[in-house]
Amino acid sequence: MKITNFGTSHGDPTLEHFCSSTLLETQGRYYLIDAGEPANALLVRNGLCASRVSAVFITHMHIDHTGSLPVICEQAKKYRSRFPDVSLTVNFPEAAAIPLMNSWLQANHARFGQAEITMRAYDEQNGYDDGFIRVTATRTRHINIPNDPSAASFALKVETEGKKVLFTGDLSHTFDDFPLDAAQGCDLVFSEITHYPLEKAIPTLEKLRCGKLKFYHIHNPWQTQEGRQKALAMTAHLPYPVEFTYDGCVTVL
Ligand SMILES: [Zn+2]
Ligand SMILES: [Zn+2]
Repeated sequence: MKITNFGTSHGDPTLEHFCSSTLLETQGRYYLIDAGEPANALLVRNGLCASRVSAVFITHMHIDHTGSLPVICEQAKKYRSRFPDVSLTVNFPEAAAIPLMNSWLQANHARFGQAEITMRAYDEQNGYDDGFIRVTATRTRHINIPNDPSAASFALKVETEGKKVLFTGDLSHTFDDFPLDAAQGCDLVFSEITHYPLEKAIPTLEKLRCGKLKFYHIHNPWQTQEGRQKALAMTAHLPYPVEFTYDGCVTVL
């Protein structure tokens, strides 16, 4: 499995970091975890296009994770005939987002045929398995709207080629929704580092056993050399290696 971090910033793009999006390649197939800007353009820069992507998984409906999704849907339809064996499935964390996405595509005269790509909602009971990758979801409290239990955010665990990789998505400011059970034993854990003070995360991270932890969705204070060194010093005692991702970072498992 090859993992390429397209964008590693927090809610806004910065000079050196785009919004959240990660490309997975396994067995000649391609998948995206989140689709923040400019994920579609970065597919093209990597010699790919949306119609080669088998599935997109949106961890939660914030625009730094969905900004490129309308373009990816439009391009996947437009160039579907180039890769007739590939059909895009977009996995939403909220069913209510699906008609709204279709409306936005219609508003852009995308003449969107629903039959040509699949849009579905996932949750903890209904993950994704296409015979190549298996994705299971753990609910987090990053999206936590009183009186609207359907508004949800998820961490995603990807299993393929005998490897397990966890993406936390965005977490709450307390870090106590870090999906520790799902992350245990993973070969690689991508943890966001924006919404909580790092010192609050240390007791939970001390309980984790994994092959490696990489910080992504990086907040401004950690986007400097000085900030990264501070975070790495705070996590140096953990029983697994800790690194920072960056835009274009490639990991092969
Ligand atoms: Zn975010
Ligand atoms: Zn968010």
